Amino acid sequence: MNIPIPIPLTDQYARQISYLRISVTDRCDFRCIYCMGEDIKFAPRKDILTLEELYQVATAFVKLGVRKIRITGGEPLVRKNIVWLLEKLGRLSMLEELVLTSNGSQLETLAAPIRTAGVNRLNISLDSLDPIRFKKMTRVGDLDKVLRGIHAAQQQDFNAIKINSVIMRNHNDDEILPLAQFAVDNGFDISYIEEMPMGAMGNHRRDISFYSSDEVRDTLTNRFSLLASEETTGGPSRYYHVQGTQTRIGFISPYSHNFCDSCNRVRLTAQGRLLLCLGQEHSVDLRQVLRGTEGVAGLFRHISQGMAIKPQGHEFSRNQPFAVQRHMNVTGG
Ligand code: SAM
Ligand code: SF4
Repeated sequence: MNIPIPIPLTDQYARQISYLRISVTDRCDFRCIYCMGEDIKFAPRKDILTLEELYQVATAFVKLGVRKIRITGGEPLVRKNIVWLLEKLGRLSMLEELVLTSNGSQLETLAAPIRTAGVNRLNISLDSLDPIRFKKMTRVGDLDKVLRGIHAAQQQDFNAIKINSVIMRNHNDDEILPLAQFAVDNGFDISYIEEMPMGAMGNHRRDISFYSSDEVRDTLTNRFSLLASEETTGGPSRYYHVQGTQTRIGFISPYSHNFCDSCNRVRLTAQGRLLLCLGQEHSVDLRQVLRGTEGVAGLFRHISQGMAIKPQGHEFSRNQPFAVQRHMNVTGG
């Protein structure tokens, strides 16, 4: 008997799933200290979904009611031929938003093609405006190149550009105001992110570097008037308008302001694992479905059934060094 598939996708807590994040590669040209270890091992290429397979999964989700897709990674723009995938996704008429998160390293050449392909909004990660510190936090990154990438993105008519900054105590907590000022001066939005316990981190002590969103907000109010906003971009940020500017400041605060009640998203790893929650291991192996006897047709049933195991929320705890084994580059932040 064929069981009808509910559209839009709905989980057991009556949350509608309309947003898919796809990590198109776990590889990256940076090694950010909060994201991955220096000696990280990436997945073998044969295990990574092809661009065609990624497109097939994305299309199934759109047919099941997903209206927003974020392309992330790893660094999505180091995936070969990524523009081909973006162009295909950009042509999906039922998809309302195609957005992308990048470290900015490839934007100097790719900002124009990805905009033409149909990417509406861009998130660019930037944790420091000091080149030496930037290199220290990314282990290898070149700030100048990223700033040139940001400038190239500014020349395109993206609907919005948002800076993402992870604030860590004794690393970049003295840059909260300069980063906000950078966003204001350039007409960008900015989100401050609490460091999350994703994957083991060797000697890095997350309990010491943790810096709460409330502390960030207190610092910001020394220079800016923040007006609380009900606006949402469909993600986990809580927003404030910076009075007298175009800039919105967001806070992604998994510890201090848990965002699970309104969760509308699921994630696909580059290896085809559908993750139902950022901070839990509940998942469905869509690569096995795609490459097995069921093929593309099997995706609808397996995706739909997967909603039944979406957990109520993450259980991040400041007492544990990490909540799940996966690092953020695998999960797709
Ligand atoms: N490489 C791209 C980038 O850096 O923007 C996209 C992938 S990255 C995993 C996506 C976002 O996750 C970035 O804004 C990054 O700062 C954030 N991130 C990575 N590890 C994190 C962690 N442990 N806690 C909080 N945010 C993290
Ligand atoms: Fe790469 Fe982004 Fe992780 Fe930094 S945060 S290592 S840029 S995937």
